[in-house]
Amino acid sequence: MEDIRIPFNKPSMMGNELSNMQQAVVNGHISGDGPFSRQVHQRLKETFGVEKVLLTTSCTHALEMSALLLDIQPGDEVIVPSYTFVSTINAFVLRGAKPVFVDVRWDTKNLDETLLEQHITPRTKAIVPVHYAGVGCEMDAIMAVAKKHDLRVVEDNAQGLYGKYKGQWLGTFGELSTVSFHETKNIQCGEGGALFINDKGLVERAEIIREKGTNRSRFFRGQVDKYTWVDVGSSYLPSDMLAAYLQAQLDEKEAIFDARRRIWQTYDTELAAWAEDHGVERPYVPNHVQQTYHMYYLVLPSLEVRTRLQEHLRKQGIVAVFHYQPLHLSEMGAQFGGQAGDAPVTEKLGDQLLRLPFYNKLTPSEQANIIDALVSFNEW
Ligand SMILES: *Cc1c(COP(=O)(O)O)cnc(C)c1O
Repeated sequence: MEDIRIPFNKPSMMGNELSNMQQAVVNGHISGDGPFSRQVHQRLKETFGVEKVLLTTSCTHALEMSALLLDIQPGDEVIVPSYTFVSTINAFVLRGAKPVFVDVRWDTKNLDETLLEQHITPRTKAIVPVHYAGVGCEMDAIMAVAKKHDLRVVEDNAQGLYGKYKGQWLGTFGELSTVSFHETKNIQCGEGGALFINDKGLVERAEIIREKGTNRSRFFRGQVDKYTWVDVGSSYLPSDMLAAYLQAQLDEKEAIFDARRRIWQTYDTELAAWAEDHGVERPYVPNHVQQTYHMYYLVLPSLEVRTRLQEHLRKQGIVAVFHYQPLHLSEMGAQFGGQAGDAPVTEKLGDQLLRLPFYNKLTPSEQANIIDALVSFNEW
């Protein structure tokens, strides 16, 4: 094995992460919903104009909260793209839901909105679109189908925070949306997430579910004189130390997005001619979408070429990684009836998509190395 010179991801501190965390400790409130959490809640709520933002311990947990909030029952069907991270659907399967996998579009790798209606049955309860690589799904069409069939929409916005679709923030279309602050995401605190609530009617119950099924949040606001067990719930709130770290990242949001935009555009410009020559596809971002520069991927002509290219890069110490394996073909997916051929685009992407190293502090010389390594590949 060669040494890794350029990893796929490297979480970076961008500013005051350490001093903020020290402050959190000094504050003496390192459990959840301390001063830093409150600042982050306020800031995200103001920026995105949603009814409520609640920090969570992960995007997975925000999705679990969504399933609880929508009262997903055994046998309810939930529609998801097959090309996504397991948590997008596992959170609903935990409540007994049956996953219904829909293929993605070849161009954006997002849920193919034209296939939605044929998958709707009387048991369908919700649609969970994923804004892949922070490029917005066709939300007009998805929301129209949801409205027509009275379905709830939960946006898995793990990769799309600060992205827009037709001028509107991603994460503000569905009743609920979920964010990830995992260390692989643009803005991160190691492990963390958030639930965005756009439906006022869900706010109070969300607070209860997040606080172990108690009305503790109301108690702290002086709205009830004692707190008690009122509903199902769990513990979904992160330590204020993590919120402190996150606050520092949010303070540097412009620097983070500038860095990522530069890296993305450099890959895209420098690889354009090479990709064209070799039948390699680059990411597509529709004009009406503002992306988040979350990742840079290539779609290679075949699994064999991808494997050889990945190995070629690896020999030069560069780690490029593939992405989702189709969920409908996984062990769990097969138990729900998934079969080869159900989602042909997803199946091809599982074999052919390769993600290049992408992190805020990737240097121009590292990136030049990666690009040189790619264009010197000759085992087509
Ligand atoms: C990262 C990611 C998740 C999971 O996020 P965690 O915060 O690690 O739970 C879920 N869905 C998508 C699309 C993701 O990219």
